[in-house]
This record gives sequence, structure tokens and C-alpha cells, in this order.
Amino acid sequence: MNDQIRPQPGILDIALYEGGKASVAGVTNVVKLSSNENPFSCCDRAKDAFQRSVHQIHRYPATDHASLRDAIGEVHRLNAGQIICGVGSDEIITFLCQAYAGPKDEVVFTEHGFLMYRISALAVGATPVEVAERERTTDVDAILTACNRRTRLVFVANPNNPTGTMISLAEIERLAAGLPSQAILVLDGAYAEFVEGYDGGAEIASRRENVVMTRTFSKIYGLGGLRIGWGYGPKAIIDVLNRIRGPFNLSNTQLDVAEAAMRDQDWVARCRSENTRMRHWLAQALAELGVPSDTSSANFVLARFASPDEAEACDLFLQGQGLIVRRVTSYKLPHCLRITVGDESSCRRVAHAIGQFKGVR
Ligand code: PMP
Repeated sequence: MNDQIRPQPGILDIALYEGGKASVAGVTNVVKLSSNENPFSCCDRAKDAFQRSVHQIHRYPATDHASLRDAIGEVHRLNAGQIICGVGSDEIITFLCQAYAGPKDEVVFTEHGFLMYRISALAVGATPVEVAERERTTDVDAILTACNRRTRLVFVANPNNPTGTMISLAEIERLAAGLPSQAILVLDGAYAEFVEGYDGGAEIASRRENVVMTRTFSKIYGLGGLRIGWGYGPKAIIDVLNRIRGPFNLSNTQLDVAEAAMRDQDWVARCRSENTRMRHWLAQALAELGVPSDTSSANFVLARFASPDEAEACDLFLQGQGLIVRRVTSYKLPHCLRITVGDESSCRRVAHAIGQFKGVR
């Protein structure tokens, strides 16, 4: 091994991100509730756009994403010039770290925050700073206390994954207003659409110079496999991010499908209301079985078990029934299982199986 060949500082500290399991050896017909996907897939308009896009496959895509940004701008009533599109919101998170953090800088996120914040910070040699939550909920005072003159980015997912909890816009505003002047607040709105009437922090990002919002087509839009996300924020920051964005980062197919999906807000509303209905049902059914969870604002429920051993045993029991949920030990929640809200039959199956598991113990 040539020890002269070595990666940049920080990179070897990255623990590999593991996606939600998709299969169980020897079990067919699994129900995947491990990656917060939309059980109803995407809307028909998006599928049609996907089919049509084959005719453009020999063409390079647009570099400015103007048509998709216009659609997002119209639907969300935002200035399209302040929108940037990426390969999932993951790529926007990566751009923010690349552009604004480096060695000696600190990137702040919460105790049970999304793993990509740590990974993206380490990838650019910055120091990840993890802040305690209060009862699995973002604690604005603790974040403000953790900030200093080295803080460059503060990531808050609202609602958060994997806890499902969220804080109010007033709390977000207080956080943004209290940050040191060189720090940017990144409001990760991957699950924002699941909350009726919530704008993901768009209005705050429109008004403030230090707030960027990220959004995705992977969750409510049912397009996780296609990898499209976007960010919105002050023009000065979006211009910086565009300098490091690969000009052809999104394909024709990604751009056309995302635009069609964005223009079908009826589908989004239907998925939101079905998710809310089944999430309440699932949380209630689990509570009756002695498995509590915090009130979730997203498309999953964080089920709490008595111990890490019980959570692991339940996970294995569910796998045996072809039900795949997510262990969240890497999110410092070893006694919990994150269960995506599936369609009604999946929710009934998972609740029934957890009942059986509880009964046999
Ligand atoms: N933020 C949060 C909080 C997430 O849970 C996820 C997906 N797991 C993402 C961002 C990234 O999603 P994508 O890259 O698919 O847009």
C-alpha cells in the first residue's frame, strides 16, 4: 500500500451511508417501509413525461434548468432566479458544504439529524458539530449555544428524519436571527409537503440573507429513484452554488419528469391527506400495543421499544414476515424502529405483525 496516496483530511472518518434494506433473503413479496418512499409511486403525468423523454435521450439537457425552476417558482410563488436544482436534495447539501465550509470551519446539526450533514461536512474537511435534542426535538437554544465564529452552516430538517418531530416557524425565525453573522441556516424541507399549510420555511428564506431551504422530489412526489431536489435562498448564495454545480447535473428525463410532477399538485394533496390518515391510524395502533411514538409530521413513525434488544428482535420478527422497516442505531436511536407510512394494507400488516411480536414475548 502506497502511504503517499491518501485522501483529504476527514474523508476516512466518514462511515458509509447505508440506505434502507430492500430485500430479505428467502422472503418474497416484501413490503418495503424502510426508505420513506411514497407507497403510491408518482403521478401519471410524471410517468407520461418519463416515457416521452426517451425521444430526447440523444440530446444534452438544459444547463439552466429554466423550465423546471419556472414550474417550481409558479407553484410555490418563488422567484425562479433564486432556485437551484440538484441530484436529490443531497446534492444541494453537498454544494452548500463545498461552497461554504472547509478545514477549521464547523458544520452544526442536531443529535438525530440526517446523516448526510455529517458526511458532507467531513468530505470538505470541516468539523461536524452535533447538538443535543430535547425529547427527540430540535432545541434552538442548544444550537445557538453551540455556534461560534467558526460556524459556517447549521442544518435543521423540519420535520426531522428520523424523529418526525418539527418546530414552529417562530422558532426557526429565532434561530436564524440568533446565528453568528457568517453562518447560513439550511432548512431541510424533505418532508415539508406532508404538513398541511407549511411552506417549508420558504417565506423566511425569501426575507433573510442567511437562510436556504432545500426540498426534494423523492418523498411525496414519489420520485426517489430518479434523484431530483432543489434549493431556494438568497440570490447571492444560489449564484455561488451554481458555480460549482456540474452544468449537466440533471438529465432531460429528470428535468421533464420533475416538472410534470410539480405541476400536479392535486396528486400531492391526495398523497398528503392519505398519509395523514394512515399515519394517525398507525401511531394509534402501535400505541395500543404498548409501542409509543412522538407525534410525527412526516411520512413515517418512529416507534419506540423498551430496549435496543427489543427493537432488534422486533425488526427480525418483521423481516421474517416480509416487512422491512428501518433500524436507526446510526441515528443514535437503537431502541427505535422507523416505519414508513405505507398504504392501508401495509400499515395494517405491520401493526398486526407488531401485535403478534408483542403477544409472543
Ligand atoms: N434530507 C432529509 C431529512 C432526508 O431524510 C433525505 C432522504 N433520506 C434527504 C434530505 C435527501 O433526499 P434526496 O437526496 O433524495 O432529495
